[in-house]
Amino acid sequence: MNRLEGKRSVVTGGARGIGYAIAEAFAREGSDVAILDCRDEDATRAARSLATGEVKTVAATVDVSQPKSVEAAFAQIQSAFGHIDILVNNAGIDTNSLVVDMPVSLWDEMMAVNLKGVFLCSKAALPGMIQRKWGRIINISSQLAHKGAAEMAHYAAAKAGVIGFTRSLAYEVIRDGITVNAICPGPIDTELFRNIPPLWRERKLAELPIGRAGRVDEIAPTAVLLASDEGSYYVGATLNPNGGDVMI
Ligand code: NDP
Repeated sequence: MNRLEGKRSVVTGGARGIGYAIAEAFAREGSDVAILDCRDEDATRAARSLATGEVKTVAATVDVSQPKSVEAAFAQIQSAFGHIDILVNNAGIDTNSLVVDMPVSLWDEMMAVNLKGVFLCSKAALPGMIQRKWGRIINISSQLAHKGAAEMAHYAAAKAGVIGFTRSLAYEVIRDGITVNAICPGPIDTELFRNIPPLWRERKLAELPIGRAGRVDEIAPTAVLLASDEGSYYVGATLNPNGGDVMI
C-alpha cells in the first residue's frame, strides 16, 4: 500500500477496462489520478468513482490521435495537478480485417490511435518529467506485437511499433530519471475483447495455455510495479502478463 503516495498519474483510456483497473490500483496506492478518455461523461464518472479523501482525481476529454486535443488535455491536467509524474499510455482500439480487404482508412486509424497516440501523449508529458528529473511512462502494447494474428496485422504492427518506441525513448530519457517500459497483455476480458468476432475469440482462448481470458486486475499490478520505486531498474523492458500465449 501507498507505493505511489504523493504521485500524480495520467491514464489514457482510463474510463473502463484495463485503463480503469490501472487507475484504480494507482489510486489505492496513494496516487492522484487523471482519467483521459474520449467521452467526457465516461471520464468524469470514472474519475468520480475513484476519488477518496486521500487522493484527488480529475477527468479530461481527449482524442489521443489528435495533437491539439492532446495538448489541451495535458494543459488541463497540468493546471489541476501542477505536474505529472506517471503516464500510462493505455487508450487503444481494435478492429478486424484481412490485409487484402483492409481499407487504408482502417490502417490509418489504427496507427493514429494505437501508435501516434502514444507518441503524442509521451511528448506532452515529457518536458515536466525531464525538468523534475523523475518520471514513469508505461505503454500498453499487446502480446500480438510478438505473435501476430490473422485479421489483426494493423493492430499487431501498431503494438510492435509501441515496443520499438518504448525502447528508443527509454534510451533518450533514462539519465533524466525517467523509465519507459511496456506491458504486453494477453487476451483480457474487457469490452474491447468482447467485441472481437466470436470465432476469432474462441480460437484464441482455445490456444491459450492458461485456458481462459485474463482479468483486468491481473494486469494492473504490473503497471503498479513499473510505476513505483520498486520498478526503478526496468528500462525499455516489455513485461508479459499473457496467460502463456507467448512465453518470453
Ligand atoms: P476498452 O475498449 O475496454 O477501453 C479502451 C478505452 O480507451 C475506452 O474507454 C475508449 O473510449 C478509450 N479510447 C479509445 N480510443 C481513444 C482515443 N482515440 N482517445 C482517447 N481514448 C480512447 O479496451 P481495453 O481496456 O481492453 O484495452 C486497453 C489497452 O490494452 C488498449 O491499448 C488495448 O489495445 C490493450 N490490450 C487489450 C487487450 C485485451 O484483450 N483487452 C489485450 C492486449 C492489449 P471509447 O469507449 O469512447 O472508445
